[in-house]
Amino acid sequence: MDFNLSEEQLMLQSMVKDFTAKEIEPRGKQIDDTAKIPEDLMKKYADLGLFGMAVPKEYDGSEMGNFAKILALEQLAYAGCPAWWPVAFNNSLPFTIYKFGNDEQRQKYVKGNLDGSKLYSIQFTEPETGSDPTALKTTAKKDGDYYIINGQKRFSTFGQKNGTAIVWTKDDEGGCTAFLVEKNTKGYSAPTVWELMAGEGEPADVYYEDYRVHKDNILYGKGKGFDVLLFWISVEKIEGCIVAVAMAQAALDEAVKYGKERIVRGKPMSDMQGIRWEYADMYAKIQACRWMTYRTAALLDTDPKAFQREAAACKIFVQPTCTQVILDALRLHGGYGITKEFKIERLYRSQPGNIVISVSLEINKSIVGSALVR
Ligand SMILES: Cc1cc2nc3c(=O)[nH]c(=O)nc-3n(C[C@H](O)[C@H](O)[C@H](O)COP(=O)(O)OP(=O)(O)OC[C@H]3O[C@@H](n4cnc5c(N)ncnc54)[C@H](O)[C@@H]3O)c2cc1C
Repeated sequence: MDFNLSEEQLMLQSMVKDFTAKEIEPRGKQIDDTAKIPEDLMKKYADLGLFGMAVPKEYDGSEMGNFAKILALEQLAYAGCPAWWPVAFNNSLPFTIYKFGNDEQRQKYVKGNLDGSKLYSIQFTEPETGSDPTALKTTAKKDGDYYIINGQKRFSTFGQKNGTAIVWTKDDEGGCTAFLVEKNTKGYSAPTVWELMAGEGEPADVYYEDYRVHKDNILYGKGKGFDVLLFWISVEKIEGCIVAVAMAQAALDEAVKYGKERIVRGKPMSDMQGIRWEYADMYAKIQACRWMTYRTAALLDTDPKAFQREAAACKIFVQPTCTQVILDALRLHGGYGITKEFKIERLYRSQPGNIVISVSLEINKSIVGSALVR
């Protein structure tokens, strides 16, 4: 067991850290305020090899691996704005297509899709459910070699942007089938983008009206969509965990900085033992979360079966712990913590999105609890 990052991983970490400080941090407030991720970042991410990091080079990936992606996301999310989202989606989705797709699908929906001109999406959630795959209402009816998709999807991150989406449907036999579709083509529309408390990923409502898709676009196999979903969602959970860790770290750093500048009874607030103990508690919690996330992320490449259960366990611990750290950091800013002048305010607003996406805490508890009983 080696707890040290390799030379290559350290170099990647340092490169993305510098990139975040120069390219994202100065625009962090603007990105959060407008909920718009600047277009120029897409090309820059692609040039740095931050898309398709676990995808082999023959399909235009950078072949750095899933763990490297976690290290990159940690640095990007430190800025406390949603600029990390494209890197998460343009990794977890091409990797899922690479893993479950056949060669033709890889050639069409992975290769040539990672140059920054396209954004992947995932479409499971519907107005009536985000947690229950048996309650899906979007249908895929067979019509010769084609399927006709009808229905509405909710909160599809980047659903309005061009690129490939994986959409989950109830097929003509009542099973859950996933299809690869091109967004913004005939029968597809995404007219409404949700406004959120923090500018997270621009999720859209998507309408399928007699959308025709060839049977060759079924991902993994008819009726096997749930397997694809469970895998992808576990990958997203770990991405969400490292984002929470990064934002908790940023919150602690902000609290320490504020404590050194704020004078209380003639001395910097950070001189008080009680305040230092708070910093120490926060630091210990972040370290526990970081290493649990690293360990779980590493399982993806070595033991994918265990990975899914461990990813659920990781979320149960990491998300509430990091949320508490961020709240503590805000509290240590006094009244200034809730003003728009301080980064801690947007870190605090950004974290709840992380808790609700990629399966709620309750469902994750059910996954882990049931696995233990089995
Ligand atoms: C910013 C953002 C981006 C998103 N991006 C995407 C995306 O790209 N693609 C996509 O498909 N979805 C996306 N979502 C949707 C997200 O995944 C869902 O909101 C989430 O899965 C919860 O579903 P729901 O909102 O329908 O809540 P519900 O399923 O209605 O759950 C509501 C509450 O009931 C609890 N609950 C439900 N069932 C059970 C049960 N069996 N046992 C115990 N408790 C239960 C839940 O834990 C939760 O607390 C996004 C959401 C947001 C906010």
